[in-house]
Amino acid sequence: MASVQADSRCLNCGFTAASGSDEWAHVAVPKLGTLTQCPECNSTNVTSGR
Ligand SMILES: [Zn+2]
Repeated sequence: MASVQADSRCLNCGFTAASGSDEWAHVAVPKLGTLTQCPECNSTNVTSGR
């Protein structure tokens, strides 16, 4: 059985990949820390998989 891994999804374009995967880009934001960024549309409006 494959281990269950939560997916993160971009709310802007619908891009989906495993949470924390290398497919996601990351952007450092002062005060907020590191945000997950969509590689397709560069949106940071990404759900964190739970
Ligand atoms: Zn996107």
